[in-house]
Amino acid sequence: MTALVNLLDLDPAQLIAYCGELGEKPFRAKQLQRWIHQFGVSDFEAMTDLAKSLREKLSGRAKVEAPAVISDHISTDGTRKWLIDVGQGNAVETVFIPEETRGTLCISTQAGCAVNCRFCSTGKQGFSRNLTVSEIIGQLWMAEFELRKSKGFAAGQKGERQITNVVMMGMGEPLLNFEQTVTALKLMLDDNAYGLSRRRVTLSTSGVIPKMDQLSQECAVALAVSLHASNDALRDSLVPLNKKYPLAYLMAACRRYLEFAPRDFVTFEYCMLDGVNDTDEHARELVELVRTVPCKFNLIPFNPFPESGLKRSNNIRIKAFAHILSSAGLVTTIRKTRGDDIDAACGQLAGEVQDRTRVQERMQKQVEYQKKFGANFGRIVEIT
Ligand code: SAH
Ligand code: SF4
Repeated sequence: MTALVNLLDLDPAQLIAYCGELGEKPFRAKQLQRWIHQFGVSDFEAMTDLAKSLREKLSGRAKVEAPAVISDHISTDGTRKWLIDVGQGNAVETVFIPEETRGTLCISTQAGCAVNCRFCSTGKQGFSRNLTVSEIIGQLWMAEFELRKSKGFAAGQKGERQITNVVMMGMGEPLLNFEQTVTALKLMLDDNAYGLSRRRVTLSTSGVIPKMDQLSQECAVALAVSLHASNDALRDSLVPLNKKYPLAYLMAACRRYLEFAPRDFVTFEYCMLDGVNDTDEHARELVELVRTVPCKFNLIPFNPFPESGLKRSNNIRIKAFAHILSSAGLVTTIRKTRGDDIDAACGQLAGEVQDRTRVQERMQKQVEYQKKFGANFGRIVEIT
């Protein structure tokens, strides 16, 4: 018996092609896609406006299957975090952040991450593997319909939309899992799936320049860039990828991206690390650095984790830093830390399966991979 095709792996064009192979017209694919992504239905029998013959064909050949949920926690501030099983002992995290006027889902794109930023616990785990399309879009699918269920809307009913914004800011570097990420993005934007506008979907990158250019051509969504430093020497030490793609090139890449972006600014994320990157001088240097890039700043108070050896800047320092940026005309926000009590804050997404002994195993795996692929594995990413 051949394996069932998971329809969550297919973008709109691929679903049309798949239905074509079954002898079905494109509008059938659109109907099918609405059942899956707009109504959250996975049982073909329940897709009542599809011909019985098509439902039977699908039952024998296809499935709609998101990765399994290992755990589901709700923080006292309403933030909800799911731990998602992606097989072979790997887990990733998906976080929902409700606000008054919107609901934002933070999605992961890789199990672990090879970029290995000094302040990021995901990076400290090393890289396990890229997520598939069904594992990426499956996070949105699962979360949207779980949230609807919690509000009393059953699958199949056209319930009220819960997730209005998506940020690719969970575990992993999305641009190093480019194809799967872009396929998932296309589904997020498609009117017969989630219908999110490009302005409401933000991809965050540590600065994989060639892939930023490619994204601008294939699926230009809003862009956030993890800056974290005001000069190359400092950034080299915090974001190892900077050695390959230094700041001057990164700034130029941001300007190129903006020609195609749905928003007229890039968001620079800047993790506030006590005594490392948070002085007045750093702020002034930053103002100079970004002078030619229309941008906003999002200062993220560092979320500490034990192995990092780093500390969060104090609030007075963060405000003083923000003041220098905003006095220079840069719109600057300080990110509220949310979901602290359930380890759902930025950079705390560790993805271990419940107990933390797995960190040890991952460290061993990283050493093993370094032996296999060279000492740079998990440090500097080579892009071909
Ligand atoms: N890999 C991508 C997206 C995921 S990280 C990237 O790096 O952009 C999302 C944001 O959280 C990034 O800006 C990242 O640098 C930041 N971050 C990582 N670890 C953090 C920590 N411990 N505290 C605060 N922010 C952190
Ligand atoms: Fe990877 Fe982003 Fe973490 Fe850096 S901050 S290690 S790029 S997930």
